[in-house]
Amino acid sequence: MRFKRVAAVAAAATLAFGLAACGGDSEEGGDTGSGSKTFAAGSTMERLNKAQKIKVGTKFDQPGFGQKGLSGKPEGFDVEIAKLIVKELGIPEDKIEFVETPSKVREDVIANGTVDLVAATYTIKDERKERISFAGPYYEAGQNIMVKKDDSAITGPDSFKDGTKKVCSVTGSTPAEEIKKYVKDVATQLVLFDTYDKCRDALKGGQVDAVTTDNVILLGYIAKDEASFKMAGQNFTKEPYGIGVKKDDTDFRNFINDILEKSYSDGSWKKAWDDTAGKFGAELGNPPTIERY
Ligand code: GLU
Repeated sequence: MRFKRVAAVAAAATLAFGLAACGGDSEEGGDTGSGSKTFAAGSTMERLNKAQKIKVGTKFDQPGFGQKGLSGKPEGFDVEIAKLIVKELGIPEDKIEFVETPSKVREDVIANGTVDLVAATYTIKDERKERISFAGPYYEAGQNIMVKKDDSAITGPDSFKDGTKKVCSVTGSTPAEEIKKYVKDVATQLVLFDTYDKCRDALKGGQVDAVTTDNVILLGYIAKDEASFKMAGQNFTKEPYGIGVKKDDTDFRNFINDILEKSYSDGSWKKAWDDTAGKFGAELGNPPTIERY
């Protein structure tokens, strides 16, 4: 009995999604969203569409991806990608509540329902998939190192092996873990904060010798303060960015994946990039292949 119900819901979901996906563009007032879309009963899409509001977790301190500026709302590539998803849910843009979501809390706020999705330079990782699920990837970054403009001693992660130089990163991030492979003494060399702007300030103030995280985050800081900072060396990891959703919410994940794929072909992905992070010298590259699992 239970199986039959689940199967029926799944079939309805497939049908309703197909309709919603096809109908998305032909709606009137598409830019502002609309409550007139139909989604499968019991789906996350239906719940959000009925509520006509959504909570999106993103960063507030990362130029080009999610940074809260004078507008009072975060701006950036992650924010634009989230808006593409919200539009297809038929929710007006002004009904998005952006919630600041530092690296460390991302799995928590998804799992406990504080936010409905997370778009926050969020690397798709198997360990993270144990608690949440990912749509995407929609971008591939890579870990790099930012130093002071006049620094010539740090040229890559191997420069930390001598045990003297301090490097800053963020708790709960993949770069904070990765750099441990290179530093000689984690206790004295690795400085962790909750947000990257604190690392940037520590570098500027001379408390640390370097900041390590994804190249695109660092490029944003460099673009904002070229007199102070530069990149040291090449990317040394691959960081595919995904949209975090509740674990095993496969319908919602597929819905987002379809939107991402559509954005690759209709120009909205490239436009989102050109309007945001693309201004800071980062490369967009080809659209990454969506991982459907
Ligand atoms: N992409 C990496 C991660 O998800 C680093 C950037 C961040 O902390 O948001 O951990």
